[in-house]
Amino acid sequence: MKQWYMVIDVAKCHDCNNCFMACKDEHVDNKWPGYTDAQPRHGHRWMNIERRERGQYSRNDVAYLPMPCQHCENAPCIKAGNGAVVRREDGVVIIDMEKAKGNKELEKSCPYGAIYWNDEVATPQKCTMCAHLLDDESWAPGMPRCEHVCPTGAITTYKLEPTALEKKIKEEGLTVYKAELNTDPHVLYKNLFKFTKNFITAGVLVDGDCFENATVNLKSKGEVVATQKTNFFGEFKFDGLENGEYVVEVDAGGKKTSNNVMITNQSQNMGFINL
Ligand code: SF4
Ligand code: SF4
Ligand code: SF4
Repeated sequence: MKQWYMVIDVAKCHDCNNCFMACKDEHVDNKWPGYTDAQPRHGHRWMNIERRERGQYSRNDVAYLPMPCQHCENAPCIKAGNGAVVRREDGVVIIDMEKAKGNKELEKSCPYGAIYWNDEVATPQKCTMCAHLLDDESWAPGMPRCEHVCPTGAITTYKLEPTALEKKIKEEGLTVYKAELNTDPHVLYKNLFKFTKNFITAGVLVDGDCFENATVNLKSKGEVVATQKTNFFGEFKFDGLENGEYVVEVDAGGKKTSNNVMITNQSQNMGFINL
C-alpha cells in the first residue's frame, strides 16, 4: 500500500523559515476538524529548524535541519497515547484532539521533541503532515504548506509503495535522523551528514603560495578511505566523517607530509599545511 513520506534535503535548506511561517499561516487561528485544533500563535514549532555550526574560522559552515514530526512507524507517542495517537493507513500520525485532552505527559513521549502542549485547549499537538491538504484533491496534490513555500525545493512529499521507497532511498542516499532510536520515521533526509557528521579541512602552501592539485589521502585504520586534489586555493575538505583518528597525507609536487587528526563530535580545520 502507498504511504506518505517527506524527503528533506539538508544541503538545500538556508534557514529562511518560510516553512515555519507557512505552518503558522495554515494552522494558527485555523481549526482542521478531524486533524487538529488551531495552533497557538507562540511557542509551538511544528516545523523546528535546528542549526549546527561546524569547523573553525575561516573554514567553517552552518547546516540547518528542518524537523517536523517524523511520522514514525514505530512511534513512542502511539505507545504512550493509550489510543489517543493513531497512525493512518497512509502513514500519517495524528493526535486525536478529544482523546488526548488533558494528557500533558504525551509531550514527553516524543524522542524528537515534536509534540507541543496547547494550553488553550489543554491538548498536546504536533505537525499533521498537513493531512487535511493531502486529503483534499482540490489542493496541489500531495503538498503540505511547508513544501509549497520552500524557495529552494528542500522539502518534497511523496506517496510511495515500499518498493518505490526502497529504490528512492538507494538512488538518493536517503537516511533517517537519529536512526538509533529505531522509530522508523517517514521523514527522510538527503545530505544529512552535513548536520550529523564532520569534516577535516586545510590549505596547502608550498613556499608560502597556495598549491593547486596536491594529492591528499585520508587514512583510517591504516587504509586510504578517500583521496582529493587541492583546489585553486590549495584547499581540501573531507566531509561526512565519523568520530575517530585519521591520518592526512599530502603530496605537493613531491613535497610530502603526514598529520594525525582526531574527530570527536567536531569538524577540524587544520589551518595551513606549510611545505
Ligand atoms: S523553507 Fe526551505 S529553505 Fe527555508 S527554512 Fe524551510 S526548508 Fe529551509
Ligand atoms: S516524531 Fe514524535 S510525535 Fe512524531 S510520530 Fe514520532 S514519536 Fe510521535
Ligand atoms: S507538514 Fe504542515 S503541519 Fe507539518 S510542519 Fe509542514 S506545514 Fe506544518
